[in-house]
Amino acid sequence: MPGLWLERSARATVKGRGVTFAARVAALPFSTAAREPGLTAPLVDAGHGTEADFAALGARAKGAFVLVETEELRDLDGLFREYMEAGHIERRAIDAGAAGLVYMSSRPGNTLARHNASLGWANRHPMMMMERDAAARALRLLRGGTALTLTAVLDVRSGPAYTAHNVVGEILGSTRPDEIVVIGAHLDSWDLGTGALDNGANSVMVIDIARQIARLGLRPARTIRFALWNGEEQNLNGSHGYTLSHAAEMDKHVMASSYDIGTGRITGYFTGGRADLLPVLDRALAPVASLGPFTHVNVPIVGTDNYDFMMQGVPNLVANQESANYGPNYHARSDEFGRADLRQLRLNAAIAAATTWGFATLDFSLPRQTAGQVDSLVRNTDLADQMKSFNVYDAWAAGKRGLRP
Ligand SMILES: [Zn+2]
Repeated sequence: MPGLWLERSARATVKGRGVTFAARVAALPFSTAAREPGLTAPLVDAGHGTEADFAALGARAKGAFVLVETEELRDLDGLFREYMEAGHIERRAIDAGAAGLVYMSSRPGNTLARHNASLGWANRHPMMMMERDAAARALRLLRGGTALTLTAVLDVRSGPAYTAHNVVGEILGSTRPDEIVVIGAHLDSWDLGTGALDNGANSVMVIDIARQIARLGLRPARTIRFALWNGEEQNLNGSHGYTLSHAAEMDKHVMASSYDIGTGRITGYFTGGRADLLPVLDRALAPVASLGPFTHVNVPIVGTDNYDFMMQGVPNLVANQESANYGPNYHARSDEFGRADLRQLRLNAAIAAATTWGFATLDFSLPRQTAGQVDSLVRNTDLADQMKSFNVYDAWAAGKRGLRP
């Protein structure tokens, strides 16, 4: 892991002429600390954080906390939008010389979340999310002409690089034991809630599939590896580490799958721009056709543990799922066990098991892509933009992560 980052506590006070109120805040991942008695700066209205909003704000952003209004997050589309916008908003705030960035929480019901900060470890500013009602009150006052200051106390513990571990088990293949099919979910989560939807539910699903195959005494032709990745939330570190320590075996990896969208119904898979996966999937899913219909989306996806397999040219799948309640609870205080749909999770386990089993018993091998093919995937899709919003583009471009011609 590149470093330690933990929030111990966070609080904020908004003040103006004749008005003072406490606002609940959460430090965003990799925010810098603001120690007692806190950092005080003007709080200014940065609209939705667009180019035009920052242009309108002009020099008033300098040395101020810029407050960015958000739409309430309802579904996966809203979540993807949040990811794609965050990097740009943060860059504009820093270029404008802001002292810090405050997002209005997009989660409903005044819920806080540990999201969004796209700069990762490169961040050198205090960044936080403010409960929706308090942010709305501040914006109403600012838009009515009341000047405000914000005092933020962010008690953040950070530290140097350290070692953490993935948890990996396997069921050895009977006839092609050196060929490997990976099914994975990530074990870590952000800590405002307990991370039941992201990604406890899918971690236990992976364990349960291993347990059921063992209990039934089934032996796949290929080896199935059940992976619980660590450090996914920080920079996909666990799966990246796996591709490094198993580099000599990469040619033997037939498929790697990731499950990371809560407990909504699995509707199909993202197949990473590899049309050759589609007929295999159709065959694998035939035994669970009654849990469908399944529709696959043949585009590359960045944001979970398929990424380093994809950049190593290994056939990879990400389960596509109905939004259900994933978006509103994403990285939020409300991501607790009671939100998980246990019945649907069991049905998803059947779908994921059928998929895994299909690839583990496939009678032909899918080739690993070459560096040239990976490069053309980057060039001919929106992959580069996604990589930039997840902070992984530079490492690939520099030849430090993934295949590069
Ligand atoms: Zn996740």
